[in-house]
Amino acid sequence: MALISCKECNNQVSDQATSCPKCGAPIAPQLAKVAPSSATIFRHPASGETVNIENSWAWVLLFGCVYFALKGVWTHAAASLLLALVTAGFSWLVYPFFARAVLRGHYSAKGWIAVS
Ligand SMILES: [Zn+2]
Repeated sequence: MALISCKECNNQVSDQATSCPKCGAPIAPQLAKVAPSSATIFRHPASGETVNIENSWAWVLLFGCVYFALKGVWTHAAASLLLALVTAGFSWLVYPFFARAVLRGHYSAKGWIAVS
């Protein structure tokens, strides 16, 4: 048994707990922390909202940094814009190849659960 930080309030919680005793946020099981590399559908543990990143490459190709900003991935929104400026737009065509991995990491880090 180990203590992990609650992602909502940073309270120290047992990794065996199903929810945080302080704020009630659900504690994702250890195994669910790393999403399978093939996962394209993620579910929010509290709201049940799902997101599909299957076609994220197309959105990134069309909208680039705007798409990342809409998804709240600010580091990549800034990075994709800067890289596009530095590489005269070339990176805009390369970024879509990494879109799925970027979003997978983004949702996993925020505690979303990989559905499939
Ligand atoms: Zn908490």
